[in-house]
Amino acid sequence: MSAPVSIDFLIVGAGFSGLVAAERLCQAGFSCVVIDQRQHLGGNAHDCHDEAGVLIHPYGPHYFRTNSPRIVGYLSQFTEWRQATYQIKSFTKGRYWSFPINLNTFEEWIGREATEQEWRDYLACHQVPIENPQNSEEVILAQVGHEFYRTFFEPYTLKQWKKHPRELQASVCGRIPIRHNRDDRYLTESFQAMPAAGYTAMFEKMVEHSPGLEIRLGVDFASEKQRWNYRHLIFTGPIDAYYEHCFGPLPYRSLRFERHTYSGEELQQRAAISGKPGCWQPYLQINHPDLDVPYTRTVEIKHITGQVIDATTVVHEFPDDWTPDKEPFYPVPTDENAVLYAQYRALAEQEKQVSFIGRLGTYRYYNMDQVTGMALAEAEKLILRYRLS
Ligand code: FAD
Ligand code: UDP
Repeated sequence: MSAPVSIDFLIVGAGFSGLVAAERLCQAGFSCVVIDQRQHLGGNAHDCHDEAGVLIHPYGPHYFRTNSPRIVGYLSQFTEWRQATYQIKSFTKGRYWSFPINLNTFEEWIGREATEQEWRDYLACHQVPIENPQNSEEVILAQVGHEFYRTFFEPYTLKQWKKHPRELQASVCGRIPIRHNRDDRYLTESFQAMPAAGYTAMFEKMVEHSPGLEIRLGVDFASEKQRWNYRHLIFTGPIDAYYEHCFGPLPYRSLRFERHTYSGEELQQRAAISGKPGCWQPYLQINHPDLDVPYTRTVEIKHITGQVIDATTVVHEFPDDWTPDKEPFYPVPTDENAVLYAQYRALAEQEKQVSFIGRLGTYRYYNMDQVTGMALAEAEKLILRYRLS
């Protein structure tokens, strides 16, 4: 075997975290190599065209949003944006409901028009008085009470996580806003837009903007690490895998996707019914809380990519137990898992030449903007440190 090649940074993972860190470090003049066991850029945010030419999100829908002008400014170096309204409905009891829960949902619930004051009065009567919600059941009960909780949250959460909302930290269901007005956008952040040419195109630009960056796809860290003599390692894979599960495996949740593509006359007929030209279903995303439906949501990403093509692809998302042959899509936010993660974190904090960032590296249910912020901060720290040494 040839002698290891000397570089400044070896970065494991070509997702948001790894590529943002690489771009910053390369711009600062360091030599970096990014490796990924998958065959493409972008990690779970990767997008690509399916056999019919439809731009899809193969690892689940990715709706970019942020409150941070700094993150928008940074990413805007690599992409234009297409404004997006992420509109989602919940389907249960044989009909669509406005979701997240808002005044429209209340009107649908009571079957007549209502004022914001009536909605507030209803909530005041039904909210369960819990001052400091400790879990995902309490956080919803405290806001909307039992009826809405049992209809929209309890079964969906059981299906998605195979855990009762009571077992999950408040932040899980607490991600979903509850509104007093008629705002039915799924998300609340001030900036909501999609990279105009897609995520992968944005990552390709980021790589072009990373002088000297070497990317090696389809390789695993374990088999690749001997090849490099690095000053510092940035690891964005699962932290428990890095430590060979020495405290026991951290739990993850996985997903399985089923795709159906429609085109031609069949699509046109359906689009006439849905009222959305070129689209199969009437909304970008439909959530299915009912337990007798095996999937949690159906997503038609064409609603927000703006692609002009005589075809569309609808994806059914099925929650799945995680096993090592599947993608660890979600950390599982329970108190017990937080304790287990803290043991790994304690080991990580002793490392002088290894940084753990990203959703899997820090075992946090983080969105794309959050991991971008984390990677920017870590890169800044490392640039200062290694410039001086
Ligand atoms: P990842 O994208 O997971 O990248 C880590 C990379 O490391 C992977 O490509 C992996 O192959 C590689 N890797 C791991 N171990 C090794 C190893 N040993 N050797 C080599 N390579 C390795 N966020 C939003 O903001 N909006 C959304 O709408 C949204 N929707 C989502 C929907 C789903 C279904 C999922 C699962 C996530 C969603 N997210 C969303 C979150 C978003 O995907 C993450 O925040 C972001 O992609 C995390 O980036 P990352 O680089 O930290 O991790
Ligand atoms: N959730 C729910 N009902 C819904 C939508 C979400 O109970 O209709 C809960 C569920 O526990 C889910 C969590 O809220 O896992 C977060 O939902 P989100 O849509 O943000 O999930 P993600 O896009 O991250 O999979």
